[in-house]
Amino acid sequence: MLKFYSLIRPLLLSENRRLSLSRSFIVAALKAHSAVKLEHCPKHTMGVPLADVLSKLEELAPLKLAESWDNVGLLVEPERNGVVKNVLVTIDLTENVVDEALENEAELIISYHPNIFRPIKCVTQSHWKERIITKCIRNGIAVFSPHTSWDAIKGGVNDWLCSAFKSKTSKPIMPNSENSSIGMGRFFELESPVTLKKAIEDVKQHIGLSHVRIGVGRDKCPDTDLISTVAVCAGSGGSVLAGVKADLYLTGEMLHHDVLEATQKGTSVILCNHSDSERGYLKSFQKQFKVEGLNVIVSRVDKDCLTIA
Ligand SMILES: [Zn+2]
Repeated sequence: MLKFYSLIRPLLLSENRRLSLSRSFIVAALKAHSAVKLEHCPKHTMGVPLADVLSKLEELAPLKLAESWDNVGLLVEPERNGVVKNVLVTIDLTENVVDEALENEAELIISYHPNIFRPIKCVTQSHWKERIITKCIRNGIAVFSPHTSWDAIKGGVNDWLCSAFKSKTSKPIMPNSENSSIGMGRFFELESPVTLKKAIEDVKQHIGLSHVRIGVGRDKCPDTDLISTVAVCAGSGGSVLAGVKADLYLTGEMLHHDVLEATQKGTSVILCNHSDSERGYLKSFQKQFKVEGLNVIVSRVDKDCLTIA
């Protein structure tokens, strides 16, 4: 086996994946070779079995915590018994992100938003979502989506967004039926009240944005009126935040009539773009998710599809 490995090692070390045999092919060749047992391969060279990576992801955020309407878990599996060395983490899975995964020789993409959500009837080259699936399969790249399971957990996406502020202990707006300390959205009191103006600056600083959109609560002055309670929902917060009594809503996006409903009741609103309200968590995940032999890379090309002009 070691002799066989030494023969293919130059291929494994080749930097240009497209000009050499793909690693997935080499792994498949290794498995097919009668004398080869994967566990005998030098540690770190062959990466981590995909099944083990999925188990670690499940430990971090059990998929049963995801909302019932969601589509989470392993969405694309190019081969049985896949092995992973490089993981690319993104909020949205675009064709540019798949190209980035290829450049980084990733065998797994963790796409926070599911790249397959509504049922698809065919997988052709005519639609970008279908091309992504074929490109991933052709290049041996698996795709996993955690989505709302990452929203629910302690220290997940919502808690990352809350950390824009110094707060007392937060609680979920929609608690999980089995564990009330986790769930959708967050509500908390600030350690010390701040003006809306200060809250806006804190959010911009935390997310790394030069601009956010705000709705000022009826009869409130951003410079003098104080914010004591905040309701947070990463992504699209309209349904989770509806009816919550708080001085401030912080979310990525809300419909006009939902913002109107909130502001007319005296609640101010900060909107910071759907995916910008989620993306910063990826760096926290990179720090949290330590698996020996696994290299976690945060996408550089993934970005919100709206910008300021
Ligand atoms: Zn989202």
